[in-house]
Amino acid sequence: MRVLVLAPIGRDAALLADTLTALQIDTAIPGDGPALLRMLAEGAGSAIIAEESLTAPLMRALREWLASQPAWSDMPLLILTSGGRATRESHDRAQELQALGNVTLIERPARPDTVQSAARAALRARMRQYEIRSRQEALVQANADLEQFAYSASHDLREPLRSIAIYSDLLARSSGPALNEKSREFLCQIQSSAKRMYGLLDDLLTYAHASSIPEERVEPVHALRPLEIALENLAGAIRESHAQISIGPMPCARIHESHLSQVFQNLIGNAIKYRKDDCALRIEVSAREADGHAVFSVADNGIGVEAAYKETIFGIFKRLHADGKYSGNGIGLAICKRIVERYHGRIWVDSEPGRGSNFFFLVPN
Ligand code: ADP
Repeated sequence: MRVLVLAPIGRDAALLADTLTALQIDTAIPGDGPALLRMLAEGAGSAIIAEESLTAPLMRALREWLASQPAWSDMPLLILTSGGRATRESHDRAQELQALGNVTLIERPARPDTVQSAARAALRARMRQYEIRSRQEALVQANADLEQFAYSASHDLREPLRSIAIYSDLLARSSGPALNEKSREFLCQIQSSAKRMYGLLDDLLTYAHASSIPEERVEPVHALRPLEIALENLAGAIRESHAQISIGPMPCARIHESHLSQVFQNLIGNAIKYRKDDCALRIEVSAREADGHAVFSVADNGIGVEAAYKETIFGIFKRLHADGKYSGNGIGLAICKRIVERYHGRIWVDSEPGRGSNFFFLVPN
């Protein structure tokens, strides 16, 4: 929470530091630009900088340092300007300084009260940022714990499940013919429940993976390849359903190929699953670019989603059809949502029951 004071002329820096020390604000005086940058990197609540110290190289270095800061950080800078009459140049310079980010311009000669209140406001803002950082760290930790839990649960539950699956298979093979019809039915139930449980555990693990995607900027990938991979994985279902799939031109997007592929696969898989019995299935995959984003769309002419459930279906374990007509665990869309949100994207659906659904998602490009 210390305030760094860079004012190279005469005793300016010392006077400013005295003004702040009177308020019990911790201050430090870097001797020059490089020292300021070093001290900023070590940690600071704010910096008061005299405009004349902001030479072009220091401005550049400061811009770079600010850009490299984590998302929670918005370093408050108080810049002491020269004052005097407003001119075209002073206006342009003010614009240039403001472009640094969280900047307050203080015109000289500045009264001690003005400097004190600006410094206090800057430190309050910085304190809030630290609070956000702590909350974010707690969330990251909670996510890591959840992922660890999902891993262990999935791993530990798989072992007894394997035994159930193996021994019920052995039982069916060794004594199947000797069992009466009722007992054979029970055995079948055990086998299919074990299979379903395997599916649930896999999905849970994929969901945990999607939660732990690091929030880092990735290089753009062309979306066609991940889409093709998704279609290859769904080849059997596509053949069986006789789906006619049309694909529009694909843009690039800043998302890992495997994650984009997963989202396409879940959405196209759903389009196939929730088709209507009485008409040929048509699926249209298209994309457009808008405001620095790639907006993808997977549209079908299937059973559609009622307006009341357009948000709910993206929740984990949320399903609209529990009656057994459509298989599933209710995790597919939750995984899509997790993935696109990790890339600061969004996913939503436009739909009319009985006429089809259009799932959209956007990610930065
Ligand atoms: P699952 O398919 O395993 O149930 P999802 O999370 O993929 O889980 O989907 C949640 C619910 O959203 C589904 O149960 C279904 O009711 C609805 N849904 C998803 N995609 C479609 C679609 N293309 N058409 C109609 N309903 C859909």
